Amino acid sequence: MDNSNIDSDNPTGNPLPAPSGPVAAAVLQRQLDGLMAVFGAVSSALLVIDERGIVVMANPEAVRLFGPLHTLLDASLTNLLIAGASDASAAPLLDAETLPFALQQRRWKADDVRLRPSGLPTFPADFVLIPFETGGHRNAVVVITDNSDREPARAQLEWQATHDPLTGLSNRAILLDRLEHALLLAARSGTWPTLIFLDLDRFKSVNDQLGHSTGDRLLVEAAERIKRSVRAADTVARIGGDEFVVLCEALERVDIASQVAARILHAMEEVFDFNGEQVRISASIGITTAGPSVTTAEDLLRNADMAMYRAKENGRNQIATFDTVMHTEVRRRIDMERALRVALDNDELSVAYQPIFNTERGALVAFEALVRWEHETFGKLSPLDFIPLAEETGLIAALGERVLDIACRDAASWREAAGYTIGLHVNVSGRQVSASNFVSFLSRVMRHHHMEPSSLTLELQESVLLDNPERAVARLVALRELGLRIAIDDFGVGYSSLAYLRRFPLDVLKVDRQFVAGIAQSPQGQQVLQAIVDLAAGLDYSVIAEGVEQADELASLCKLGFQFAQGYLLAAPMSPTEALLLAAANAVPEGGAPVAIAETGIHSQHADSTHN
Ligand code: C2E
Ligand code: MG
Ligand code: MG
Repeated sequence: MDNSNIDSDNPTGNPLPAPSGPVAAAVLQRQLDGLMAVFGAVSSALLVIDERGIVVMANPEAVRLFGPLHTLLDASLTNLLIAGASDASAAPLLDAETLPFALQQRRWKADDVRLRPSGLPTFPADFVLIPFETGGHRNAVVVITDNSDREPARAQLEWQATHDPLTGLSNRAILLDRLEHALLLAARSGTWPTLIFLDLDRFKSVNDQLGHSTGDRLLVEAAERIKRSVRAADTVARIGGDEFVVLCEALERVDIASQVAARILHAMEEVFDFNGEQVRISASIGITTAGPSVTTAEDLLRNADMAMYRAKENGRNQIATFDTVMHTEVRRRIDMERALRVALDNDELSVAYQPIFNTERGALVAFEALVRWEHETFGKLSPLDFIPLAEETGLIAALGERVLDIACRDAASWREAAGYTIGLHVNVSGRQVSASNFVSFLSRVMRHHHMEPSSLTLELQESVLLDNPERAVARLVALRELGLRIAIDDFGVGYSSLAYLRRFPLDVLKVDRQFVAGIAQSPQGQQVLQAIVDLAAGLDYSVIAEGVEQADELASLCKLGFQFAQGYLLAAPMSPTEALLLAAANAVPEGGAPVAIAETGIHSQHADSTHN
């Protein structure tokens, strides 16, 4: 009995006051009946035991859990409450030594035990023993709460943490876990695990055209087909939207993996039929087997992913095996990533500037900042080589901030030297724009360099807008609120959708070089460019032609109404100092005659002085 609850009028601690006389007998009876009703109604099992641990009372729930009353009464608690996760570990919850000790406590409890009544189902329970004293003897009420109904919830939580809810396959976490385990074993046994990495081809268009619910059904069915194509012992996991991985831990021969992969490809070929809606899809598969040089699960998964990409590049619906060429590429990428980190830390990146001219007056209007990196072993690297790497590795954030800072600083120095504000275009990648601190970083940099916001234009690629249009709109609105301008770079390639032009707040279209090349000889190409110019005029955007290399191209562009042009014909990317000189030379005196492009004297037949 919990002594803190002892009533001061009832110093014995007896829960029932001791009445006397006939009225008192009636009161006593009522109290007893009430107690018995409670005893019968509570949802936990209640047993009253005497000082030897012999059961003297049991309620209906106790009968349900431990068997009929006649076997319960007079049974010993020590024999009755057998606990343990398995038969082998079963032992009395309260043995002959623990029981007297428990009876001396105010309360004795055990949470989360598994009780194993003999001949009856085992169940998880919480157990509390509450001693009380009567007639100078210690007795106790034992409360046992059956937690069986909580178990499924726990099991479900466990399941959710390790499985993909849509397909019921293992998730990435469990795959990596098993793979790590397999790698550990392999280091000793020499039997290396194999990964089969599968990505559905053009799954996005299924989702876009037939809706997400059909997409989901396809994934579920694809998962089934993969499972049917492999052995039960193999782990099949879904690790991304339409990416599946099979882990084969102990293949007798490496070529068996190719056979398994071929079986999976074959299984995908059969048409998917969803209540009459027929869908066909193929898959690209990459295979890799671990070896002494691949020791981490992440590395092996990356190799498998890389092989899968090779299968896509080779034309989809095929299998590619990770090989030494890929291994060399991976090495190069790892080395390049490391070198890029060092370059960022040591401030080894520089920025080149390519002028943008006004076609009517031939005046310099802006410079586009283009990042440059020259490495002692890799040599001069194109941004097209290291920007994607920077994006994948997250280094793009640091790189982008660095370029913005340098470019704004240089723009400030031109302004000072030339005495007027010159436009600055900076390329920004999708990951950079979607970083939560991008807007605040930009406004800080602009303030720091006393940048006039309207003189800064950010160049974004179409894909940045289309990957997540809702978020992109919000981002662009926030950026334009800073006062700067947004240009779509490489306009016209990659996406055929023009719908976004209506939705996004934009200022400039930079028409891709592909549309410009050979334009003088292509009436059809001119029609296309004319349509773009008209479209831009209607939407009140400026248009810039990129990559102008020939004089006749420039002439055609002027005729078509392009206001701005950029390209090797006019000027190649140049160093900051050259840019400064050009800016100063191009300062149009107040009321002075506009300078024609041809007269600027900067056409550069020679190669980009800043490489590529
Ligand atoms: P972009 O923004 O479309 O830049 C134009 C690219 O075309 C530049 O290549 C430029 O040197 C090249 N170019 C200019 N005029 C001509 C021409 O007349 N003919 C030909 N064939 N090419 C010309 P670059 O510097 O190699 O940059 C490649 C791409 O890398 C850029 O394409 C841009 O998307 C990206 N990039 C460059 N710097 C950065 C940066 O700081 N951040 C980000 N996120 N991307 C950058
Ligand atoms: Mg650009
Ligand atoms: Mg471009």
